[in-house]
Amino acid sequence: MGARRIFFLIQMNDRIIAHIDMNSYFASVEQQARPALRGRPMAVVGPSKRSIIIAASIEAKKLGIKTGTQIKDALAICPRLPLIKADCQKYEALSREFIEIFISKTPQVEIFSIDEAFLDLSDCVSNSEEAKILVGEIKQEISQRLGKYIKCSCGIATNKFIAKLASEAKKPDGLTIVETGEEIQFLDQFELDEACGIGNRIKERLNRMGVESFKDLRRVNQTTLTLIFNSYGLKLFNIARGIDREPVKPYYLVTKPKSISRSKTLSFNTFDKNLIDKVALFFCQDIACELKNKGLVCGQIGIYLRFQDFSGFAKTQRIKAPTDLATNLHFFAKKTLGNLVLKNSVRKIGVWCSSLKENNGQLSLCPKFETKRKIEIISEQINSKYGKKTTCFASTVGLNFSPSPSYGFKKDLLS
Ligand SMILES: [Mg+2]
Repeated sequence: MGARRIFFLIQMNDRIIAHIDMNSYFASVEQQARPALRGRPMAVVGPSKRSIIIAASIEAKKLGIKTGTQIKDALAICPRLPLIKADCQKYEALSREFIEIFISKTPQVEIFSIDEAFLDLSDCVSNSEEAKILVGEIKQEISQRLGKYIKCSCGIATNKFIAKLASEAKKPDGLTIVETGEEIQFLDQFELDEACGIGNRIKERLNRMGVESFKDLRRVNQTTLTLIFNSYGLKLFNIARGIDREPVKPYYLVTKPKSISRSKTLSFNTFDKNLIDKVALFFCQDIACELKNKGLVCGQIGIYLRFQDFSGFAKTQRIKAPTDLATNLHFFAKKTLGNLVLKNSVRKIGVWCSSLKENNGQLSLCPKFETKRKIEIISEQINSKYGKKTTCFASTVGLNFSPSPSYGFKKDLLS
């Protein structure tokens, strides 16, 4: 092993990473803003009447109401549950405030979502005790600047994977430190799918291999995991041992979004594939406009459907020649949906574009695409001056709704 490699390993082992996660974020912001809601069960819901619970207050969570609970089920548990419509702009504005607090301590801040971030404290503190004091100061500043109802949980560890799991360990307002060498012992308290990076599908595949816990996962050798999970096999091999070498990616290096999506819960359930196609085109027009505004093209499109029984369908399609044109996006969205037979009626439709890259201007030299581009740009200019639905594709005339704002990752909060 070369000297540089040894130096790298020592550096990685010496890291002190904090993960800070705001507790019941949207609900807490609303409780802070509305004193009458403080200390009682309440929930934040999406803009549609048929939406689900987006965030439940700490008090509502104690009753069993959580993110994803259907509104009717929440009301069955707590009939007078106050339901507040989500105000994403307000949540983003407050996110900027607490991120400013983090950045005042270290520039090594990775914005992981609208309510959580990783901080690499390795250059600011020399041990976990000093990190604990620093995180205590951050918590106090959040409370003073944003209000005492905005609370956060924090995990401190030698890597991002364990730090994130540690922040989950004590909620609300908790602080958990996992010292070097204690990672495996700490990890073994958790179920496989409690860890970031093991979703339902991976868990099911692991279960089919007889792997039910991290202890079981450590019994599977690296070659087997790589054969089954390809490059993700090495990640699974490492996380089962509490190892994660991913660096904290500072916010100033991540200014472009990783994906752009639009989704909507329909006002009625439908089997009509024609309608689903129209909605997908409607979303593609909106996404294409955002791509052009940000100077991006996308190399992958995905479509997802949520059915009446809350089961789902999701599929992605690679786009060989990355694009920012609505018509191209729609072509691939349609292809992605393919000959899907709807056995269940659809209640929610979503389209997302990923593998985003800078548009280098050479991707649309084909005259046919150039004409389409000119038409789309003129249409977008008209819409920005006279309102979003002034011009649209003929088949989407009559679709009278706005796509839901994205509640997912917002890594460009400071851009
Ligand atoms: Mg949170």
